Amino acid sequence: MTILAIHGGAGGDGEWRGLTSLDPERIRCMQNVLQSIGEALQSGSIDALEAVTQAVELMENEPLFNAGIGSVLDEDGSVTMDASIMNGLDGAAGSVVNVRRIRHPIRAAYCILKQGWPVMLNSEAADEFAIEQGVEPVEPTWLITKLRQKQWNLWKDKNARPGATDEDDSVLDHDMEGMGTVGAVALDVHGNVAAATSTGGMTGKPKGRIGDTPIIGAGTWADTNIAVSCTGVGEAFIRTCAAHRLAAKYETGLTLQEACQDVLDAVEPIGGRGGIIAVTSDGSVATPFQTMLMYRGVWSDGTITIGIGPNDVDLDSMDS
Ligand code: ASP
Repeated sequence: MTILAIHGGAGGDGEWRGLTSLDPERIRCMQNVLQSIGEALQSGSIDALEAVTQAVELMENEPLFNAGIGSVLDEDGSVTMDASIMNGLDGAAGSVVNVRRIRHPIRAAYCILKQGWPVMLNSEAADEFAIEQGVEPVEPTWLITKLRQKQWNLWKDKNARPGATDEDDSVLDHDMEGMGTVGAVALDVHGNVAAATSTGGMTGKPKGRIGDTPIIGAGTWADTNIAVSCTGVGEAFIRTCAAHRLAAKYETGLTLQEACQDVLDAVEPIGGRGGIIAVTSDGSVATPFQTMLMYRGVWSDGTITIGIGPNDVDLDSMDS
């Protein structure tokens, strides 16, 4: 059995108001990721670790997600990105913080994992290491899209708090919000799992701010039983060690759904709204969220499901 689950971020409050004009493009991206990486995973040509890396790279390429090109802008109007990855089989991990000059932060995290030591690199040193390893260099301004610039201008005009346009859909419709952190979890033909997460963080985040995404155990976790990728207000996911908490709860014998609910209940009182994707080595998968929406999709042995709001998207009607 092979499974690939992906997310493209969670956010928004209140009632689901339906797809926006940009959502079909996000759906197409998720469909392509699930189809191409799912097939490779099923054929055994790539393992879980490579599958999550490639899935996240493809989502980093999509300007409508908040990772790689199209990342949200910091307080000073620049892009800084975080990413991490973990392999369930041996607990190997890699992470980059505040990178600015590479196209694929997740590939940089993968290179760190493969090197074996250290686990985390930050800022200029992380960019330099990644470029030496062959990760594609880019100009920092290449990462900035018109949509994100417009969103940042609104954030600035409103003098809003960091992340305000990411969460508050009374400010903007969800095409204009900063949600869109991306993540992937996979189960391969050998029964091994892996997890990866990548983000531009939150709109208007202050210089040097680090969210949960690059923190092993907070935004990303994988062990021999389970792989987890989280999205949402990072500080709460850090304070609860959310991704690792899910693994620990699952190990106590809770079902995957119960363990996910425990984590969402733990982050909520401290301002952590968001979602989780998780897959277990015995083939369970869950994609719960407590926000208005979470971009999400699952490949399970050739069957693809995709959702944004509370219900799955009718992919047949999208094709026609
Ligand atoms: N967790 C990310 C952060 O706090 C943002 C998100 O997932 O929307 O940087």
